[in-house]
Amino acid sequence: MEIKQLEDLAVRDKDHDCDGIGPSKACVRVEAVADLPTRFGNFRIVAFWNNRDAKEHVAIVRGNILDAENVPTRVHSECLTGDAIGSLRCDCRDQLEVALERMGALEQGLVLYLRQEGRGIGLINKVRAYALQDQGLDTVEANVALGFRDDERDYAIAAHMIMSLNVKSIELMTNNPRKVEQLTQHGVRVARRVPHLIPPNVHNRFYLETKRDRSGHYIDFSGKPHLMEQSDPVLVDGMIES
Ligand SMILES: [Zn+2]
Ligand SMILES: [Zn+2]
Repeated sequence: MEIKQLEDLAVRDKDHDCDGIGPSKACVRVEAVADLPTRFGNFRIVAFWNNRDAKEHVAIVRGNILDAENVPTRVHSECLTGDAIGSLRCDCRDQLEVALERMGALEQGLVLYLRQEGRGIGLINKVRAYALQDQGLDTVEANVALGFRDDERDYAIAAHMIMSLNVKSIELMTNNPRKVEQLTQHGVRVARRVPHLIPPNVHNRFYLETKRDRSGHYIDFSGKPHLMEQSDPVLVDGMIES
């Protein structure tokens, strides 16, 4: 069928069920679409159902992205404590806000909000990991103690969402080349990678005082290694990439 507006995607996907993408065989379908005015500008929200774990993911859409090339795209993994509560244990909220602000200033853009809390280990396990950190473990040790790998995230769902939205190619806003590789592997055309940079200001203390090592971990103020909760933190313009 001809797709003229985002709402048509929900009609098209009514009985969608494919073999899925990646080892997890992730399959999503568009269920509902609505306007979403935000403090960062006017967007539309596209709600997805996911066959694997019944989690509901969303795409925040700016402008017309149907059949569009080079759509500026950011992939954000849910962090309830950071995004919604304003926790200072991580910088997820800053990262999400920077992405939405940037998209809100563009003619077209896409933010995928993936419900993979705590690098994919879930909210309860993330809180358990925080508790272990409170007892002196670093984030890497805490994850290992709970039996998880450093990062349990899966970008197959993101890839399927991009394809479900009929986006032809994206410009991925990320500082992590591995994210480009993963999406490409899953069939997404990534036209280019755009560094996720923000200008230095008084709010950037977290980034400016963060000294990261090559593995993508950073050392916190007390000297313990931490994992970033998002796999590709924004960088402050002028900050030295290690
Ligand atoms: Zn599918
Ligand atoms: Zn977070």
